[in-house]
Amino acid sequence: MKPIVIASTNKGKIAEIRAAFQGLPLEVHSLAEFGGIPEVEETGKTFAENAVLKATYYARHTGMACLADDSGLEVDALEGAPGVYSARFAGATATDEDNNRKLLAALQGVPREQRSARFRCVLAFLDVDGTILTADGTCEGRILEEPRGSGGFGYDPLFYIPELGATLSEISMAEKNAVSHRGQAVKIMAEHLAKHLVQEKG
Ligand code: IMP
Repeated sequence: MKPIVIASTNKGKIAEIRAAFQGLPLEVHSLAEFGGIPEVEETGKTFAENAVLKATYYARHTGMACLADDSGLEVDALEGAPGVYSARFAGATATDEDNNRKLLAALQGVPREQRSARFRCVLAFLDVDGTILTADGTCEGRILEEPRGSGGFGYDPLFYIPELGATLSEISMAEKNAVSHRGQAVKIMAEHLAKHLVQEKG
């Protein structure tokens, strides 16, 4: 079994990744098991740059192969904003509510057909031999004019998926994992890893 560390302490994220990687010869660790590693600044201009930056940083600090993710929301009417700034859209210490309020204000008066948006997630895996694997996932939807539902986090209550007739806050965690940007990226990464680990063995 190859040890890998997920560059996150979020229990939900770790559980989702563990479930998707079942059957792979990997021993999945959480960053929560490593104390005292200072957080890395996400200075990249793209999700991919940030994901690789985080994987590289935490691989160096833990000595393990590392899987990192970066994700965010792209709104077409805002030319792709908030993008890599999604977590800090309304400022460095912004809460989810602050960010959602700012998003609604920025889209005030924008008609429904121009409120298209997508969540994007890029996963980057850096192996101890220097191999880098990346996987992308997207989830298409539109931004409502007011929040709906109480589940999820971040922009979920404003993100409506017409095919589901619901926001990401109105569906279960399992349903969200099946359609989400992160769920897709994790699935693709599991396929890349399966091939990589076989090549490595041979
Ligand atoms: P990170 O990849 O964990 O740094 O996420 C960046 C930010 O993007 C989060 O703080 C949220 O604001 C937003 N975000 C990413 N994924 C989701 C999601 O699945 N639902 C809602 N917001 C999300």
